[in-house]
Amino acid sequence: SSHGNVRNKVRETQRLFQAICRKLLQGEEANLKKQGYLSIRPDLKAAQIIRAKGKEVNTGKQIIGSVSGVDVGDEFQYRVEFGLLGIHCLYQAGIDYMKHGGMIIATSIVALGGYADDLDNPDVLIYSGHGGNITGQDKQQPEGQKLERGNLALKNSISAKNPVRVICGSKETKLSTLDARAKIVLTYTYDGLYTLERYMHDVGPHGKLVFKFELKRIPGQPELAWKEVKKSKRFKIRDGLCVGDISGGKELFPICAVNTIDNKRPPKFNYITEMKYPDWYCPTAPKGCDCIGGCLDSKKCSCMFNNGGKIPYNYNGAIIEAKPLVYECGPCKCPPSCYNKVSQHGMKIQLEIFKTKSRGWGVRSLTSILSGSFICEYIGELLEDKEAEKRKNDEYLFDIGHNFSDCSLIGGLLTLKPVVQLSSSEVVEDERFTIDAAECGNVGRFINHSCSPNLYAQNVLYDHEDKSKPHIMLFAAENIPPLKELTYHYNYFVNQVRDLNGNVKMKSCYCGAAECTGRMY
Ligand code: SAM
Repeated sequence: SSHGNVRNKVRETQRLFQAICRKLLQGEEANLKKQGYLSIRPDLKAAQIIRAKGKEVNTGKQIIGSVSGVDVGDEFQYRVEFGLLGIHCLYQAGIDYMKHGGMIIATSIVALGGYADDLDNPDVLIYSGHGGNITGQDKQQPEGQKLERGNLALKNSISAKNPVRVICGSKETKLSTLDARAKIVLTYTYDGLYTLERYMHDVGPHGKLVFKFELKRIPGQPELAWKEVKKSKRFKIRDGLCVGDISGGKELFPICAVNTIDNKRPPKFNYITEMKYPDWYCPTAPKGCDCIGGCLDSKKCSCMFNNGGKIPYNYNGAIIEAKPLVYECGPCKCPPSCYNKVSQHGMKIQLEIFKTKSRGWGVRSLTSILSGSFICEYIGELLEDKEAEKRKNDEYLFDIGHNFSDCSLIGGLLTLKPVVQLSSSEVVEDERFTIDAAECGNVGRFINHSCSPNLYAQNVLYDHEDKSKPHIMLFAAENIPPLKELTYHYNYFVNQVRDLNGNVKMKSCYCGAAECTGRMY
């Protein structure tokens, strides 16, 4: 569909932007260590690169109303992204406007806070006008706001009754992947279309004039996930809550099960938080690096060397790019706070499982997730492939060595569909292994397949050196809003999955993506 196409273009541009940012940030982090400052702004530089590549979307004419390919609830980490997608073209100013019918009208605003903290009336937003110097900063004379430019455009939009896009910045507490300490992160959400209802004069500090504009959300748009989460936190109830914690206290956060579809509880299984290896396999610890003061020098750090000379993560824990194999620091001499231990530290994101209409149980997050974040490991029992084929229940098998992502580009996380490279010699060895999470597993066993996924599976080694049995770590391939289902591509081939007698097995896919092929295998 044409919406599907533009949507994919928007997602691709965002993934590209995020991947370039992470790569640039990686270079800057090295500078930061050496010089104590960043020499460039990765977001601004990444935007330049996107423009040079001609990868902007919806540019040219300013748009009134919704912007194709951008959905309500979409999340952004940097303001420059708005311009690249055509949702808000001014980088700094909070009010964007255009000439229309002989006057200026507002097209979009960026609001930092402003929602009345009144959950009965969550669709009303009060937005303060711009300009003036109402706080009397920089030793200048305090001055009131004027009804000009953006303020005038907002006032005109009351009578023009045109829809105005609202992008809302909100602060969220996230746990550091290094030490699980809380950190505040600002994310922007596209909240949808609003109309201007009225404006008021208010008195700011120093008694100066401030305009207050009242906006009302146009009904019929998707509910905003962060509001739903806030509501459930406030009232301490989740609709359809049926199990308080499927991990039984084994994870950092309880993982609840929510079912608003029927009255079934999730089937029983044994929740484990570490891979279960067969008796015959005893993993041997790698030698590890000798970097006592931290892994800084690619010539001295054997783990950096294994990863091609760089640590595969940003300091904030985001993975830079997909690779055939990531080597984390394991039992090394480097400190526990080493940046190269992201996924082995375990889950830091609050997840829940929920019943879907057609795909059984699925997984989603209660907070927003930044592109590149570690989600969880696919944990279960390690089996030889021939052993796995004998298992009656094949629903929870993960075939190691089948999950090659596109690693041709700095992206990896760029393409929406994984590119399969069966010839890759880096991981495939003669014996192949499968993880079975049917009887024993973690929350990873509930993550469904999608033809247009938002996660990808990354092979990671840290506690042993056996390339045929890497840990399967799931990472976010894009920014994911709260309550959006988390999915990865199972990487099956249609008509190539067979039973023990050699007969082709078929399974329908109900992922619902525009590009769904209809078959999982
Ligand atoms: N939905 C599963 C549950 O309720 O336990 C969790 C995922 S499990 C690893 C894999 C199974 O989920 C598949 O064998 C299939 O039954 C179902 N599933 C996953 N993705 C699906 C999709 N896109 N369409 C239909 N069924 C899907």
